[in-house]
Amino acid sequence: MQTPIYLDNHASTPIDPRVLDTMMPFLTREFGNAAAVSHVYGWRAEAAVEKARGQIAKLIGAHPQEIIFTSGATESNNTVLKGVLPYLGKNQIVTSAIEHSSVLDTCKALQKKGISVCFVSPGEDGVVTIHSLEKMLSDQTGLISIMAANNEIGTINDIEAIAALAHEREIIFHSDLTQAIGRIPVYVHRQKIAMASLSAHKIYGPKGVGALYVRRDLQEQIEPLMHGGKHEQGLRSGTLNVPAIVGFGAACALMQEEMETENRRLTQLRGRLLSQLQNSLSNTKVNGSLEKRLPGNLNISFQFLDGEELFLAIQPTVAISRGSACSAKADGMSHVLRCLGVSNCLAQATIRFGVGRFNTEQEIDCVANVVIREVKKLLG
Ligand code: PMP
Repeated sequence: MQTPIYLDNHASTPIDPRVLDTMMPFLTREFGNAAAVSHVYGWRAEAAVEKARGQIAKLIGAHPQEIIFTSGATESNNTVLKGVLPYLGKNQIVTSAIEHSSVLDTCKALQKKGISVCFVSPGEDGVVTIHSLEKMLSDQTGLISIMAANNEIGTINDIEAIAALAHEREIIFHSDLTQAIGRIPVYVHRQKIAMASLSAHKIYGPKGVGALYVRRDLQEQIEPLMHGGKHEQGLRSGTLNVPAIVGFGAACALMQEEMETENRRLTQLRGRLLSQLQNSLSNTKVNGSLEKRLPGNLNISFQFLDGEELFLAIQPTVAISRGSACSAKADGMSHVLRCLGVSNCLAQATIRFGVGRFNTEQEIDCVANVVIREVKKLLG
């Protein structure tokens, strides 16, 4: 069986070989513990971690000491949502209804413990409006958590405007930047973002490593999930995964260097895929705003056909997701599409294409041809 073309870059990205090169020494001879600073093995590991911390901070306009390494964005989101309110004496979180499950499910768990959570619905275009957010705020709101870019439909929120609103109302603003870093410019200080979650495996780095950005003056005001050796300003105990962190840093540096050219290329490839589908098929519907969207994302529904059959027919040629990797596993309808008012039936016939750094024009043409052929077959 031929390996399918990979167009699921929102679920995860392949490790860039340049990233892997930077990691290799730390998987072999440089095995020191970054916290064991009484010998050269530890010093070298520590220096490598600090270099990576600087690279990550630079990509989002933060100070290196504001970067806390975690196991990924799920942990970062959990740390913020569970750890902030206890210090504030407030009882309400405002978030959006189309966040990643690591935000939504954490909020639902907090609701069971008596925390009030408001879930703002985005507009039909998949973008959260300031007006709808503002209506939810109260004196009890301690935290607003809104993602910068959605992992299913790729829509981009105006996090600068949301951060300004939060700042004005003296509410902590956290943003899940997982899909956004290196794709849209982020300057956490300038944009008044207080906390943010990041993950390496969405930007051609390794899995199982991420970061939480916490503004310096707020680092004492967040309860850690884990207690132990007081690593990472006491906010995340546990021996650092040095090779993964080094790879994360290198991945951020590459995203920063190549952001503009890569975004142009991905926008062009995404446009190529969309125009071929639209030119040959009359039953397509793009979900969410096309303008306010990540360059590599195309979330598209195919009307009047059985989604299951379409998926099975194209699966040998192209690796794609029907929703997010997480909601796809739960076998339910995508909460994001439901929120946009997409019918159950149409949601089943929806594909999320995630074009990435290593895709070529030939691959896009091949995928477009196969999808067009199979859709036409199913329409009869
Ligand atoms: N938030 C968003 C928007 C995501 O896309 C993902 C990954 N699907 C996560 C959080 C979770 O990231 P991780 O895999 O690093 O835990």
